Amino acid sequence: MVERVAIIGAGPAGCALACMLTERGIHTTVYDSDKTPDLLVGESLVPAVIPILRRLGIEERVAEISHIKRGAALRHGNGNRVDFEFQNFGRDYPNYSYNIPRPGFDRLMRTRAEELGVQFVSHKASVEKVIDDPNRELSLSKDSLIAGGYTPDSPPDLLVDATGRARLFSRKLGITAQRGPRNDVAHFAHFENFAADSVLPGQVVLSVLRCGWSWQIPLTETVTSVGIVLDKHAARDYGATAAERLDAVIEDNSLLNLAGAHRTRVSDVMTYSNYQLISDQAFGKGWILLGDALGFVDPMLSPGVFMALESAAVMDELVFAKTVHNIAQGAQAYYDHMLDWHAAWGKLIAYFYDGRLLSMGAVRDHIRQHAGPFSLSRYAEPFVSRALSQLVSGVKTRGPLPQAILHHSCRHLIKDPQIPEQNKIRRSLDETSSLKLTVHNQSAVA
Ligand SMILES: Cc1cc2nc3c(=O)[nH]c(=O)nc-3n(C[C@H](O)[C@H](O)[C@H](O)COP(=O)(O)OP(=O)(O)OC[C@H]3O[C@@H](n4cnc5c(N)ncnc54)[C@H](O)[C@@H]3O)c2cc1C
Repeated sequence: MVERVAIIGAGPAGCALACMLTERGIHTTVYDSDKTPDLLVGESLVPAVIPILRRLGIEERVAEISHIKRGAALRHGNGNRVDFEFQNFGRDYPNYSYNIPRPGFDRLMRTRAEELGVQFVSHKASVEKVIDDPNRELSLSKDSLIAGGYTPDSPPDLLVDATGRARLFSRKLGITAQRGPRNDVAHFAHFENFAADSVLPGQVVLSVLRCGWSWQIPLTETVTSVGIVLDKHAARDYGATAAERLDAVIEDNSLLNLAGAHRTRVSDVMTYSNYQLISDQAFGKGWILLGDALGFVDPMLSPGVFMALESAAVMDELVFAKTVHNIAQGAQAYYDHMLDWHAAWGKLIAYFYDGRLLSMGAVRDHIRQHAGPFSLSRYAEPFVSRALSQLVSGVKTRGPLPQAILHHSCRHLIKDPQIPEQNKIRRSLDETSSLKLTVHNQSAVA
């Protein structure tokens, strides 16, 4: 029986799980260091979060502080562009999502958890390895136990690591992780006067740059989040500091410098790196990993906050439901489920990085404009668009049918292997050997 749970980390994953466990009658304490920066990534949500926001009873409150998002677009300096408009997939999945002010969203989640009776402790928690207890591999350190109102003789029954990229338990226990294929660094900031070039309200625009890619997330009528994602080595060529690199990349890419010609930066520049990973172990005696602490796929397509909330919902159902008789089996089922999610997002995101998606988009446009009224392509095109919408919205990212439609339509529609090469997201400027780097601030170039 799990009666008392301590969750470390009050991000979306920790707060969502705390709400769900408290509703089950499990006494839940959440620790957070409460050192949230003014700016956090995770500002654009996929529609698949909506049922979870509704379950938590916070969709209206999220809507009040957010910008509606109707879709996303991927565009390339060579003129190719694919627009994804979210479609309605039944009552649970509407054709929209939200761009959120992330710190405000986290505060809202916390307020909701407090309303439900979750106890929050403002404390940077630490854990220690346990060697002499067959039922426990980890415990909260003495001061963390006391801060949460526990005693060494009466600790919580289960510890949940929701510390995000800090990966508190994995670091303490030496748990390894599978790294993703990319070695990127992301720099981002908020700007005014940065045109998002959206064709739909709140549309997130992803641009393929001369190397790497960028995001533009409209947050309000006037403020846009702009981020660049570059291979770590390539990033060094753009400057020594995050601010220099962000500026230099904007200047170096016509797609961005047109939109940002009159930009004013209204925040610091934040940096994230080493984020693509999935832990080799998800649980052990007395502990379990949640959200980013378990793993993160990639910023492309914005699956992170959804995955954090989904991991809470899946853990709640498979580990804590009254019908669960064996917690270890439930935890294994939870891990398998989340591995499946990671693999599905990873597979989909690969279509963006290797250029197949943009190439498909070009073919799709061609079909819309030129295919005859009785052509098979014209007949098939709406099915492909629907499958794509199901995949990128998170609604059916794991669905075998949409996955198969994407796979086969790519194989049959992109006949020229050179097309993906043109559209792929390059890791370095060397791959674009004929182009010369021309940044406005040459002194910033290493
Ligand atoms: C470059 C980049 C861009 C991204 N863009 C998006 C996007 O557009 N949309 C999207 O959905 N996702 C995006 N993400 C991912 C998203 O930010 C994360 O997946 C999400 O925040 C994970 O939530 P979480 O609750 O697991 O962890 P976090 O949000 O990281 O929360 C962890 C919490 O734990 C606390 N904590 C850490 N250590 C301790 C400790 N020792 N004691 C107490 N508290 C502690 C922290 O203070 C924090 O509050 C992006 C990620 C990156 C790297």
